Formats: sequence, structure tokens, C-alpha cells
Amino acid sequence: MRIIGLAAYRGELHYDGAAYAFAGGRSYQQFTSTVVVLRTDTGLEGYGEVCPCGPSYMPAFAGGVPACLEELAPHILGEDPRHTARLTQRMDRALEGHAYAKAAIDIACWDLLGKAAGLPVHVLLGGRFHDRMPLHRIVPLAAPPAMPGLLQGYRDEGYRHFQIKLGHAVADDIALLRGLASTFRPGEVWVGDVNGAWRGDEAARVSRALSSLDLFLEQPCASYAECLSFRRRAHHPVKLDECLRDLEDVQRALRDDAMDAMALKVSKFGGLTRSRVIRDLCVAAGIPLTIEDAWGSGIATAAYAQLAASTPAPCLLNTTDLHRYNTTQLAHGAPDVERGTMTVGDRPGLGVEPDYRQLQGPFLEV
Ligand SMILES: [Mg+2]
Repeated sequence: MRIIGLAAYRGELHYDGAAYAFAGGRSYQQFTSTVVVLRTDTGLEGYGEVCPCGPSYMPAFAGGVPACLEELAPHILGEDPRHTARLTQRMDRALEGHAYAKAAIDIACWDLLGKAAGLPVHVLLGGRFHDRMPLHRIVPLAAPPAMPGLLQGYRDEGYRHFQIKLGHAVADDIALLRGLASTFRPGEVWVGDVNGAWRGDEAARVSRALSSLDLFLEQPCASYAECLSFRRRAHHPVKLDECLRDLEDVQRALRDDAMDAMALKVSKFGGLTRSRVIRDLCVAAGIPLTIEDAWGSGIATAAYAQLAASTPAPCLLNTTDLHRYNTTQLAHGAPDVERGTMTVGDRPGLGVEPDYRQLQGPFLEV
């Protein structure tokens, strides 16, 4: 099997809510997604998607994707997409960094590998551990009085895992969590995601003030060093996200005993090939994972859902239904969601097809 063509399409996603806001004054309503279609000499096509969460969340932005794809395309044409690790090496030799753009190609290669093998991708990633997987629901940053109602609304929809965005003034974050604490129900999983907003002393104050609340604190401070220092005196389990940017960062965090849990965003690490390695390292170390992505529609969701479904139960903290955060769907066959849980089917590959009526382009075709 050889790759004979790459086409890239653009899809505009609109957040299905007032504003997707988080610490640092970042607030987005619209996201630009890129869908990659790889064509092969067998007639099979593979699909991948990458959708950065705005330009200032990770070292990734939507405008960078087309330029990277144009750079990478000549290096993958003629290659066998089933040799995923070899393709990763080839892309890394052709372009330093820009893992997010490589992820769209890598995901499409896994889709092709699955289709060629007649197997769903989760079987190729280790096999199915879950029928239905728990979903977390993000409660975006809003005026503190509005946030309990948002959380309750999601609870009414069946969600039991909540990621509560923090990053108001520290006293307001403490008051917000104190107010919410009385609504906590046994069996729920709460994560306070600070998106790096607190200084180390502020993180310590919050953790001390709320020491009896059963809560993970995610990315409490901006830098790895601050988070590591805080973890030594934290009263809460610490989950890391933004400060882990590649495999080496994750290896260091495991060596340093820097985290109790981790957010694994598939596009950040360059797709499923690298994310599987990171997943397996964390499973070996007993670190529970939220397996997700920065943003996206049905193809991005299908990719991380396949990885989540093949993650041993104790180490899958939860996953997410990003495709349902948007008013439009870019794909048919996205993972099925019901009462705060999600499942992947048994169709070969990722099991999804682009909905070309929702896509513009192709803006790149080679
Ligand atoms: Mg996070």
C-alpha cells in the first residue's frame, strides 16, 4: 500500500455555549479544524483531524497547519501508511517540531492501517478494555455565581466527571470551590483546571484552604518547576497538562514523581504513534490519564477514543466528547455518547467519514 495523494480541508467549529473561557483571559467561540485525507493506491482513504484550541493554549495554531502539511506532503507520498513509526520518523526528519500538524497525518495512517487490516484501531493499540468510558465535562470559566448552575446542568445530562475551570482572583476561586463543595456527590470526579494561572504560593493557599475537598488540581502553575514544587506540599493530587510538551517531558515527570494524573492530548504529541508510547509509559507507572485532544470534531474524537478504549481500566481516568462541544459536526460515525459515557464501535480503522458538506476546500491537494 502506498500513499498517492494528500488533500486537506478546513472546517469552522462554533462552541455550543456562551464562550469557551479559561484562565489568562483566553476565550474562544470559534475554532478552525483541518481534516486530512490520505489517498492510497489500494483505493482506501485515511482520515485525520487537528484543531488547536486557539493560538495561545499550546505551541499550535490553526494557521500553522496548512504550511506544515505543505512541507510534509512530499516526504510521505509513496510511503506505506501502515508503517506508522517509520512515517513518524520520516516526518520528524523532514520538519522539526510542529507535532500537532503531523498528528493529522499520523491519525490518517492509523485509520488506513486499521482499514487494511480489517480491524478497529483500538485492537491495534492493545485491544478493548472498555465498553462505555466515563466522560468529563468542562465547566468553562464564567462569573463565579454562574458556574454552579452550569455544573448542575451537565450533571442533569448524566456527566459524573467535571473539569471546573479556575483562574479568577485566588480568593474568588476558593469561594467558588467552597460553594460548590456542598453539591459534591459520592462517585463524582472533580478536577479544578487552573490552566497555569496560579503562582506557587497561590496554589499552596488554595490547596490548604480546601484540603477536605476531593479534587484534582490540574496545571496549577505555568511552569513544570513551579508545579513540581507545589506537588511536594499539595493537599490534592496534581494533574499535569500544558507543561508536558513531548515524550521527554513526560519521562522527566515520571522520574521526578511530579504528577498523580495526566492529560494526554493526542495532537500535542504528534498523533497516535507517540501518544500510545506515552500512554503505555503512564500505564506502567500507574498514572491515570484523561485521553483527549485540544479541540476537534468527530475525527479527532474518534482517534483519541480509540486510544482511550485500549487503555487498561485503572489508568483511564476519563475521556471527553469534544465533537459535542460544537454546533456543527464534520464527520459521520463519531463515537456514541450516552449519559456521560462514550463508546467506540467495531468498524475497521477509526470508523468515521468526513462530512464534506461541512468542509471547505481542499485548500491543499498533492
Ligand atoms: Mg487541562
